[in-house]
Amino acid sequence: MTGSLLSHKFDALILGAGAAGLMCAAEAGKRGRRVAVIDHADRAGKKILISGGGRCNFTNIYCQPEDFLSANPHFAKSALARYTPADFIALVEKHHIPYHEKARGQLFCDRSADDIMRMLAAECQAAGVEMFLRTRIHEVQRTTEFVARAESAVFHAPVLVVATGGLSIPKIGASAFGYQLARQFGLNVLTTRPGLVPLVLGKKDRSQYCDLAGVSAEVAVSTDHHSFQDKMLFTHRGLSGPAILQISSYWNEGESIRIDLAPGRDVAAAIGEAKIRSMARARSVFGGFLPHRFATRWLDLHMPAAWNNQALAALDRQTHEWVLLPDDTEGYEKAEVTVGGVDTNELSSKTMESRKVKGLFFVGEVVDVTGHLGGYNFQWAWASGASAGRAL
Ligand SMILES: Cc1cc2nc3c(=O)[nH]c(=O)nc-3n(C[C@H](O)[C@H](O)[C@H](O)COP(=O)(O)OP(=O)(O)OC[C@H]3O[C@@H](n4cnc5c(N)ncnc54)[C@H](O)[C@@H]3O)c2cc1C
Repeated sequence: MTGSLLSHKFDALILGAGAAGLMCAAEAGKRGRRVAVIDHADRAGKKILISGGGRCNFTNIYCQPEDFLSANPHFAKSALARYTPADFIALVEKHHIPYHEKARGQLFCDRSADDIMRMLAAECQAAGVEMFLRTRIHEVQRTTEFVARAESAVFHAPVLVVATGGLSIPKIGASAFGYQLARQFGLNVLTTRPGLVPLVLGKKDRSQYCDLAGVSAEVAVSTDHHSFQDKMLFTHRGLSGPAILQISSYWNEGESIRIDLAPGRDVAAAIGEAKIRSMARARSVFGGFLPHRFATRWLDLHMPAAWNNQALAALDRQTHEWVLLPDDTEGYEKAEVTVGGVDTNELSSKTMESRKVKGLFFVGEVVDVTGHLGGYNFQWAWASGASAGRAL
């Protein structure tokens, strides 16, 4: 006992009962380590429960290191190779959880994300992991070991794993505690920003397009170095949908995005080959690949000066390269992930242990590794969590 506080001794303390923390705990527990998982939330894995529209897109069978953003694009390779989508699928099948592939290798639960949560809880229980929920750690010190203090308890262990996630969705428990701990122990933290997040349009574009909220179209969206082809959706303040969420992770304030409204189509030729070139013909061509309301609106705002070949070529160019300058993102309240975080140069890519501070590990989203949309972020959580858990 320390004063009137309950004192707990473990082999490893894991801060954060999310995807990465639970995976790490189960792997370490299986290896005979006495593990405590500590979380300030009243329930473990809240983000898992709301993920994938409640069905948890738990991995992607085509997962490659190229599907991740990081200041060091090589860092994730080792962990991703040590714990693959096939490893997680084997676990899901061991627990008889029904699942399906939705699109592009994205695997979802047939029933609900709760299946994944129960599975992780069962794995942790079988491995003897102790769970401390509603426990807010307000201070961590390192003496001969790590000492983590909560209001009514103090935890001691030679190993501390920080699995506190990113900043997105603060109302379900996201906090900056992991980044604070990294800084406290002298580790560099790269600037964070919301990722996989809807974009807010500038005032003029908002007034011109946002009454189309709910309308969606298949487009290709690009920044200077990246491009994604998928659905785009108008919202009340701007743009969302998978194509926009993907590009948002690469977008920086002040930069424009380019939208190809007709990927692979020759719009000029389609209008030009008609007997009578007219707005009605243009509407009919655009209606072949865009929803009617959007096609009409876009053409009204990009009316060709004439119907000759030169003007049609200009219209074609604009259609394939509609340039928009977003004002902002919808922020962490609406973001699925946080880009940036604990600098990977500070960590071992094999074990996620700090190079500077022995026994201190960072796993999951708190690290500067961010996946594309489509099950990649959970795969990183499982892979980094398992790599650390096996090394404890
Ligand atoms: C709406 C939404 C849907 C998503 N859908 C998908 C999807 O379908 N597929 C996919 O791959 N990814 C999805 N993601 C992303 C994915 O959920 C995260 O990347 C993943 O959960 C990160 O795992 P983590 O363990 O690092 O962090 P988290 O799962 O966020 O867990 C962090 C834990 O740490 C706890 N914590 C935070 N601060 C403290 C503190 N100070 N003290 C104690 N505990 C603390 C939190 O309460 C939480 O339990 C989604 C995200 C959101 C927001």
